[in-house]
Amino acid sequence: MFLGPPGSGKGTQAKVISSKIGAKHYSTGDMLRDAVKNNTDLGKKAKEFMSKGELVPDSLILSLINEVFLRDNPNRFILDGFPRTVNQALELDKLLQKIGRPLTTVLYFDIPDEEVVRRITGRRTCTKCGSNFHIEFNKSKNDGICDKCNVKLILRDDDKEATIRNRLKVYKDSTSPLINLYKEKGILRKIDASASIDLISESIIKFIS
Ligand code: AMP
Repeated sequence: MFLGPPGSGKGTQAKVISSKIGAKHYSTGDMLRDAVKNNTDLGKKAKEFMSKGELVPDSLILSLINEVFLRDNPNRFILDGFPRTVNQALELDKLLQKIGRPLTTVLYFDIPDEEVVRRITGRRTCTKCGSNFHIEFNKSKNDGICDKCNVKLILRDDDKEATIRNRLKVYKDSTSPLINLYKEKGILRKIDASASIDLISESIIKFIS
């Protein structure tokens, strides 16, 4: 399980690592965004919470996870963005016991809040193709213009400073207690999430193998 604040790079690493080790990648954030895009019942219920940076109610998330796990019965998997509350973690334990696949490792992506704010508020997104650039780390060739589409780049509402500060607060209040919970179980491993993408992937792979 990958645990850490928004903007810590969990999603990026989960994509790289899952394809390298042949594990199934479960991102509740991606599943919810799909549900919103497809305007499903779940999407309609989740939309409001997501746009404010609040957590979607546990009951919705838990029935989503139960459904996909009982359907897939995955052998190796990476959880990204779930669990996010103590209640979700306890329910996950029960589910994993039921399918006989206990959680082996929790990787905790440790990063200072200010670095998260710098990463996210510097992100610029193309309104046409959705490509992401960054004003410091991944500049477009022409300032404020997409390299591929030649249209204007914007700062998305959910990347604005007030939203990200709220998401960090939600993380601190509801999700960070999981750090101690998994530390006590003896399966937590901390990684420095301020390092480069390649360096982090390398250390995760080394650790797994
Ligand atoms: P993410 O892409 O993981 O940052 O998730 C985007 C948004 O989806 C979050 O800000 C929450 O509103 C919602 N979300 C994703 N995963 C969960 C979860 N496990 N519990 C509650 N809400 C979630």
